[in-house]
Amino acid sequence: MTYPTQPEASHFIDGVYVEDTDGALIDVIYPATGEVIAQVHAATPAVIEQAITAGLRGQKVWAAMTGRDRGRVLTKAAMLLRERNHDLSVLETMDTGKPYQETSVADATSGADALEYFGGLAASLTGEHIQLGEDWVYTRREPLGLCVGIGAWNYPTQIACWKGAPALACGNAMIFKPSETTPLSALKVAEILHEAGVPAGVYNVVQGMGEVGGALVGDPRVAKVSLTGSVPTGRKVYAAAAAGLKHVTMELGGKSPLVIFDDADLEDAVSGAIMANFYSSGQVCSNGTRVFVQKGLRERFVARLAERVGTAVLGDPLDPETSFGPLVSARQLEIVQGYIAKGVAEGARLVCGGERLDRPGYWLTPVIFDGVSDDMTIAREEIFGPVLSVLEFESEDEVITRANDTEFGLSAGVFTNDLRRAHRVIAQLDAGTCFINSYNDAPVEAPFGGMKSSGVGRENSRAAIEHYSQLKTVYVRMGKMEAPF
Ligand code: NAD
Repeated sequence: MTYPTQPEASHFIDGVYVEDTDGALIDVIYPATGEVIAQVHAATPAVIEQAITAGLRGQKVWAAMTGRDRGRVLTKAAMLLRERNHDLSVLETMDTGKPYQETSVADATSGADALEYFGGLAASLTGEHIQLGEDWVYTRREPLGLCVGIGAWNYPTQIACWKGAPALACGNAMIFKPSETTPLSALKVAEILHEAGVPAGVYNVVQGMGEVGGALVGDPRVAKVSLTGSVPTGRKVYAAAAAGLKHVTMELGGKSPLVIFDDADLEDAVSGAIMANFYSSGQVCSNGTRVFVQKGLRERFVARLAERVGTAVLGDPLDPETSFGPLVSARQLEIVQGYIAKGVAEGARLVCGGERLDRPGYWLTPVIFDGVSDDMTIAREEIFGPVLSVLEFESEDEVITRANDTEFGLSAGVFTNDLRRAHRVIAQLDAGTCFINSYNDAPVEAPFGGMKSSGVGRENSRAAIEHYSQLKTVYVRMGKMEAPF
């Protein structure tokens, strides 16, 4: 028995499901077939008000608990997520179209890792004592208050947990607005958090498009906004948050370089390029879509890559053998097809892929372009689909300059067997999340986030604590107070 795709109601507020059918109707579509599998309503102003009121009230109750007690609840939620991994993964597959082969190892499990990690940290979040002669200062690490999380559609469960876990560990409350394309899984995260013991109002989910996100970001009672989305949305949300001087975390898009030197292990480098381009049908923000391959290896690399990409299994996403799913929506398919057409028109060589499958749903075979140059649209803009571009390079200095010639700075990878070169090159790449002889690993223990236009702040690791808490400094005078008059 897996979860029904139609949720009990659209929103989860103050510990219970809430419906308001006045909100715009949103169809939830299974990308593998194009069928409507659920419907939810966007939050009305009344629903948004209810969520904010509940969040403000819940936050006080939650913050008054000890860190240890909060941590225990989060750890229990992690355990429940893992116990229900199968059902949650099936739901995630229906919501996103990503193959079960992926969702069963990368979504609820990653969410559980975050809840477990921040649950473990919650008891050790402290201020410090600073002795100043007889006087002293102590700092208190305090929550920010009510935080808003806004998600993208590629990792709905993971994003709901990556934002919720550190926020809650620090004693904040959260209102999470999933992407309108994938509204289902965050409701399950909310249900599970409450079952684990999170008090009513501490983690709320409201549905809707950008306007609902905008209403939340613009509310003066909201202390912090964490967005996962595209750069254009990031600019709008950052500006709106700045008007209220709110704290922000921005996890935005990328056009990351993957640099493969001649001396790299060919099979490893090909695996790296596959993981950097075709996981989740290429709909991953940190993807290394500009694959720079050194001249001596390029031909062999492209041939072997095409051979291995040809073995991808495009089938029923719920079949564990399926290794490549459809795109998330008709809109995304259209965007990606537009980029493929531009690639061909601008002179890139289409090695393979780009065909629609003769079945319903948003299927597209994985694409490899060779002979791509830096100025082509496919090498400059984020496509967010299964389109890999191979760019040839000759020298180390040249590839560093070309790799950095972008407004983005989310990720970067290097494949080489030369130890010194690996570290030397990574040190010069302008990217927040980097890989050596690997790609797209995102363990919760490590900071994750971007430089330049790709983001502000970091998710995961101890670094996230800084983005969900603030320090209060308390000066304590032990002697007599002096004044000039
Ligand atoms: P998007 O920017 O279209 O939407 C993201 C979210 O923002 C959605 O929930 C949307 O409803 C909301 N939104 C839109 N306009 C808003 C506004 N004015 N105010 C408040 N909220 C608003 O992105 P998407 O298409 O859902 O996701 C794909 C993008 O997300 C890609 O650019 C990808 O790189 C990025 N992404 C980044 C990360 C990361 O961690 N850096 C992870 C996943 C996806």
